[in-house]
Amino acid sequence: MSVLVWVEQTKSGPVASSWEVLGKGRQLADALGTQLVAAVIGGETAKTAEEATKYGADEVLTLTDGALADYRLSAYAAALTQAVGAAGATVVLAAGTTRGREVTAMVAAQLGAGLAPDAIDLKVDGGKLVAVRSVYSNNILADIVYSSAVQVASVRPRSFPMPEAGAAKGAVKAVAPNLGAVAEQIVEVRSTDTGEVSLTDASKIVSGGRGVAQDPAKGFALITELAGVLGAAVGASRAAVDAGYIPYKYQVGQTGKTVKPDLYIAAGISGAIQHLAGMGGSKVIVAINKDAEAPIFEKASYGIVGDLYEVVPALTTEFKKRIG
Ligand SMILES: Cc1cc2nc3c(=O)[nH]c(=O)nc-3n(C[C@H](O)[C@H](O)[C@H](O)COP(=O)(O)OP(=O)(O)OC[C@H]3O[C@@H](n4cnc5c(N)ncnc54)[C@H](O)[C@@H]3O)c2cc1C
Repeated sequence: MSVLVWVEQTKSGPVASSWEVLGKGRQLADALGTQLVAAVIGGETAKTAEEATKYGADEVLTLTDGALADYRLSAYAAALTQAVGAAGATVVLAAGTTRGREVTAMVAAQLGAGLAPDAIDLKVDGGKLVAVRSVYSNNILADIVYSSAVQVASVRPRSFPMPEAGAAKGAVKAVAPNLGAVAEQIVEVRSTDTGEVSLTDASKIVSGGRGVAQDPAKGFALITELAGVLGAAVGASRAAVDAGYIPYKYQVGQTGKTVKPDLYIAAGISGAIQHLAGMGGSKVIVAINKDAEAPIFEKASYGIVGDLYEVVPALTTEFKKRIG
């Protein structure tokens, strides 16, 4: 019996939300009186494995193979399923990134295990995992209990605080991957990494909505400038995406990304329930809207009634003065 956390890595290194899950995994392992094991999968694993030993893992399993150098669902799921067996894990966790969600789903299917996708909290009750999920646009928190022996969950990024790195503790153990037939063949890799702050991991987000309609290019340029000064990611409402003002990858909400930053600035966004479903958990919400009756103000910590074309550049100027 153990708690196993998949520490996801990309070409630029470990995914920050994996450490959040590992930190929570430590608490769960302690509550269950069991070991915390981290699994690192890839073409190169040594650096991430070494880091994992500093975030509370009792043991780190590395599954290293050239076939794992680029992400492939079937290969990664096979490797993680193997790690579950090697660790004797009864709780299997991963950050709920795009990859984390599909790998955990495939692993759960392969193991005949129950899966709670996109959990926002995890706890232990009666020696079993309980995963908390937000359903019906954040109107209900559902406790998911498992009837299977192995319990799998993916965890929404920023649901748990980043743990403090300590002295290296856990032992690193190599497991030779037995990948079987890898279903996907990589033909070409095109990077979409633009060096922007990742929306799901961002601690600050500045989003724009249909309120930029008068001059969308200028509106989003102003929003991007403010985001740049704050070190924030750029987001958008679905109306802005559907109108073609900005690509879908920026969409926040029920059918876009779910985010939980410390600061969310919504400019020209009315506050529809489907938008709130994706950002309602933000710590501080600042709404900029020229309609004082806009529903977003009911959810906002701070509201600015005004034209975003005036308010956003004014904020940029002021923040530049104060934070450089
Ligand atoms: C199944 C389903 C899923 C959906 N999923 C999502 C989702 O994932 N994300 C999402 O966002 N929506 C989603 N929607 C759409 C959602 O219902 C709303 O239509 C959408 O969020 C509205 O976007 P908006 O606030 O930008 O536009 P509007 O509702 O049109 O609001 C624009 C706001 O801008 C203000 N404004 C106008 N001009 C200015 C200005 N110059 N300065 C300041 N303020 C100004 C207006 O007063 C208004 O409040 C979904 C809908 C459905 C049915």
